[in-house]
Amino acid sequence: MGIAKKTMDAAQWIEAAIRDFINISPENTLKNRENEKAWADPLVGFSRGDDPLYLEFKEAIGGFYWTPLEIFNLTFPEVAVEPHKLTVISWVLPQTELTKADNRKETTYPAERWARARIFGEEVNERLRAHVVATLQESGVKAVAPMLSPHWKRRTSARYGYASTWSERHAAYASGLGTFGLCDGLITPKGKAMRCGSVVAHIEIPPAQRPYQDHRAYCLFFTEGICGKCIPRCPVGAITEMGHDKVKCGEYIRKTTKQYVKSHYGFDGYGCGLCQTEVPCESKIPTTHDVEVDKSLWTG
Ligand code: SF4
Ligand code: SF4
Repeated sequence: MGIAKKTMDAAQWIEAAIRDFINISPENTLKNRENEKAWADPLVGFSRGDDPLYLEFKEAIGGFYWTPLEIFNLTFPEVAVEPHKLTVISWVLPQTELTKADNRKETTYPAERWARARIFGEEVNERLRAHVVATLQESGVKAVAPMLSPHWKRRTSARYGYASTWSERHAAYASGLGTFGLCDGLITPKGKAMRCGSVVAHIEIPPAQRPYQDHRAYCLFFTEGICGKCIPRCPVGAITEMGHDKVKCGEYIRKTTKQYVKSHYGFDGYGCGLCQTEVPCESKIPTTHDVEVDKSLWTG
């Protein structure tokens, strides 16, 4: 780490690099006429490379799924490193209020801002991954963004179907940033309407204290047996009380919404996110009160 960085807490330094990129840099754009921001103020969390959760993910998802040490070793085979000396840096990029407000009104197709966030916003997320890696490397810290690695591949999990060698949402869960909902989205303190990213770095940073014990702790369907508001939001019935049908969802997004985005918004894109908006967990960790209030509005 450089001299200036040594005097600064590593966690604060990295969090500032991520938040400044999103809050100040012109890179954060939806590329619309108004040049609006793609993402609101991020959340940042850390987990240790030897966190047992990463091995649990591998056991549950499949042998192809990387631990932080595996993707680090693939990237830097010449470096001998112990897993506890690695840190997974994870972030959550919340959708903006304008984007969420637009998508709330939709019932079949994504709003234009949402589709732009899916395509141009994810490009911002890719540049952020590269920026975090470059910032660390400039200070002599070896780092890799698993999603940018040429080794990253889509895979099929015997248990979960569509999968890949690294999951940003699982890294965020391990880093204390949220838990999974009925629709498979990650419910964070800034809600489920977000995208996330991560970098594995050879740096020791105190990990987050996860404020949950269970991977579904924030979803009211699993904790209280109530809500299920994401079920009717899905235009193709891909969410039921049994969970999220990834095949149905994926086909709808890649085929139907792709055509819609091209013909209505004029760019090559896709998206949906209807189950991430107009639901109690859209912008926060939901409480039973949110569902009760919502019910009274519906029946009142
Ligand atoms: S809308 Fe309700 S049931 Fe669906 S993920 Fe959110 S809290 Fe869970
Ligand atoms: S993203 Fe759209 S299609 Fe997929 S589960 Fe959510 S609402 Fe359904």
